[in-house]
Amino acid sequence: MQLFETVREMGHEQILYCHGKNPEIRAIIAIHDTSLGPAMGATRLYPYVNEEAALRDALRLSRGMTYKAACANIPAGGGKAVIIANPADKTDEMLRAYGRFVESLKGRFITGQDVNITPQDVRTINQETKYVVGVEEKSGGPAPITALGVFLGIKAAVNFTWQTQRLEGMRVAVQGLGNVGKNLCRHLHEHGVQLFVSDISPEKAAEIKHLYGATVVEPEEIYGLDVDIFSPCAMGGIINSQTIPLIQAKIIAGAANNQLENERLHGQRLIEKGILYCPDYVINAGGIINVYNEMIGYNEEKAFQQVNNIYDTLLKIFSIAHQQAMTTNDASKRLADERILKARTSKTQQIAA
Ligand code: NAD
Repeated sequence: MQLFETVREMGHEQILYCHGKNPEIRAIIAIHDTSLGPAMGATRLYPYVNEEAALRDALRLSRGMTYKAACANIPAGGGKAVIIANPADKTDEMLRAYGRFVESLKGRFITGQDVNITPQDVRTINQETKYVVGVEEKSGGPAPITALGVFLGIKAAVNFTWQTQRLEGMRVAVQGLGNVGKNLCRHLHEHGVQLFVSDISPEKAAEIKHLYGATVVEPEEIYGLDVDIFSPCAMGGIINSQTIPLIQAKIIAGAANNQLENERLHGQRLIEKGILYCPDYVINAGGIINVYNEMIGYNEEKAFQQVNNIYDTLLKIFSIAHQQAMTTNDASKRLADERILKARTSKTQQIAA
């Protein structure tokens, strides 16, 4: 990989290679863009097959965070860190060494918990740096607010597609009944929606059937149901060449990250099938909004106000996509780029003044 060429193409500001012998640590911190504020992005620990795979993950995920924060309209930029290690080899010394690297960035990068990093690990990193979030949960965790954002996103998509605010009587399929999916089912049930659900855990599915009268289907049946809306709330990559032909829903709106296996190809296929796709990093921004508010001193009212913006932001994205005949993912990137450019221009003007 031509590093500077790749970084130039993707627009990153800074890549920090962190290396230590004693304790052994290999990590990469990628800062994509800080025009709107400090780069926020969680830390992932993973046994990458090689350094190039680790770097690619850090570059791709940090750029995603820039778009996510910009679309959520919060004053933060995008970053991501990856520690190259086997989870079994993780030690407190390694995490503290990593924390010192984060500290060396003096707040340009603020991190939290991702794959293979536990809340206890975050507390260990916090011994060396104050630039971590999620050390103590002041808000009760991000899932309820994320679910609310997804619910509002569904309402925006329904409004755009059928020009109505009413969800009553609509049929919605929810894949995954974990922290977000369960809360989403509650909102939908309260608004008279007929629920169809699946989870690989029969207990979780039975609970939602009991609470909200949902119809439980087998995990592989969820795609082909005769429903109005499909809400993926389990894992990524599930909108792909195998599942798109099965989908009958007119709207896809869920919390799972990276739902499209291939953004361009599958985004385009959804347009051809007349399905409105809510970009995942816009509709599931409740999580980052929550983390950002914990960082600045949690104020529930303010956090919920920011989540309410997801509705208007998605309407704006749908109209850009419709007018410019582009995918909703491309439209959301355009919106994010506009906000970033505006922030950069105003900074330049301030310096010049
Ligand atoms: P979770 O782990 O609590 O729930 C995921 C659920 O999906 C589990 O109940 C699991 O059994 C189920 N599942 C796994 N594979 C499945 C399959 N093949 N079919 C059906 N169900 C399956 O996670 P969560 O916090 O509810 O998050 C859900 C998704 O939303 C994840 O992709 C997460 O990355 C994303 N997300 C979550 C938040 C948040 O605030 N929690 C924020 C942004 C994005």
